[in-house]
Amino acid sequence: MDTKRFETDVIHKGYNAEQHNGSLAPPIFQTSTFVFDSAETGAARFAGEQEGYIYSRLSNPTVAMLEERIAAMEKGEKGLAFGSGMAAVSAILLGLTRTGDHILCSEGVYGCTFGLLQLMEEKYHITHNFHSMNDEESIRSAITDHTTVIYIESPINPTMKLVDLSMVARIAKEFNIPVVVDNTFSSPYLQRPLDLGCDIVLHSATKYLCGHGDVIGGLAVGKQELMSHLAMTTQKDIGGVMSPFDAWLLLRGIKTLPVRMDRHCENAKKLADLLKKHPSINRVLYPGDPDFPQYELANKQMLNAGGLISFEIKGDKAIAQKFMNHLELIKIAVSLGDAETLIQHPATMTHAVVPEENRIQMGISDQLLRLSVGLEAWEDIWDDIKQSLDSL
Ligand SMILES: *Cc1c(COP(=O)(O)O)cnc(C)c1O
Repeated sequence: MDTKRFETDVIHKGYNAEQHNGSLAPPIFQTSTFVFDSAETGAARFAGEQEGYIYSRLSNPTVAMLEERIAAMEKGEKGLAFGSGMAAVSAILLGLTRTGDHILCSEGVYGCTFGLLQLMEEKYHITHNFHSMNDEESIRSAITDHTTVIYIESPINPTMKLVDLSMVARIAKEFNIPVVVDNTFSSPYLQRPLDLGCDIVLHSATKYLCGHGDVIGGLAVGKQELMSHLAMTTQKDIGGVMSPFDAWLLLRGIKTLPVRMDRHCENAKKLADLLKKHPSINRVLYPGDPDFPQYELANKQMLNAGGLISFEIKGDKAIAQKFMNHLELIKIAVSLGDAETLIQHPATMTHAVVPEENRIQMGISDQLLRLSVGLEAWEDIWDDIKQSLDSL
């Protein structure tokens, strides 16, 4: 199918019912391997002289449907599916670097990405540093002769700070360095880094793309040549690939991404406004709040501000934990982007591996909480937050 509008592609792209007995839902090709009709066919497929499936770690029809769909959604040439968001991050970072290289990162990165960067430094002498990326000259001076990747999250987990993606992409072009963006927090519905000049976009598909809290998966999109190279090296040989059933669940979840995201954003805006006014709340970090320092940038590069709100409660760690324990509807859980509203405490959960000094520098205090606003009636979410705040 030709590429159509986003809301249509999320439903149709990558699947043609006519090729599958008219089945409206795509089939799950639950197979590890594929039968060759002759020895010569097998040889030709291995030699790359003939198209066709070989073995499901290399590619699988259900997974390929999802890869085509995500590529259309991110407006890129080729998509790749992985067994988790971290499998995508590690395949890409290991695929783009060698010993002695340097990775320039945004100020904050996902906790396990932080762990991976440390591992790469300790074991392979691939160094990294974190940078606020808010002005051009300092980015230029942070790029060294050894920098081979610029790695960005925006919004940054969990402080919601943004990075101007087109500005960084423009500078990176001068140095011919690929820019990789973890777009998990926005989903391709709200932000499309490739359109802004970045080179690879990746997702923890576990989050908004799935939307229902029942899959661990990763997706990445970029130029054909680069992605094929990663597919044939770090994806295939490290082997963190997605199962056909998980690809099927993601094909299903993605169909409702635009309508879900609209509701996540609407609910989050209402809750951010109410949190701001509550006397027990110190500050609210939400890019859709006109008082958010980068509100203009959010409007420039995102369609809407997303469903994540971080806020600081007045008091200390014990008060933050007491508040969480008193919630009834809202569930205490890491992850995000699900139908259910989830709350977590970054300092002791997602960012517990980050040394305290770095954590404080990143703006993650003991009183900071991150709310993944779900799809429930916003009034019910607010009632739950309010009863717990009032009980403190
Ligand atoms: C969850 C998450 C990841 C890791 O994804 P998994 O699917 O859990 O491996 C990476 N980046 C961000 C921003 C995330 O939220």
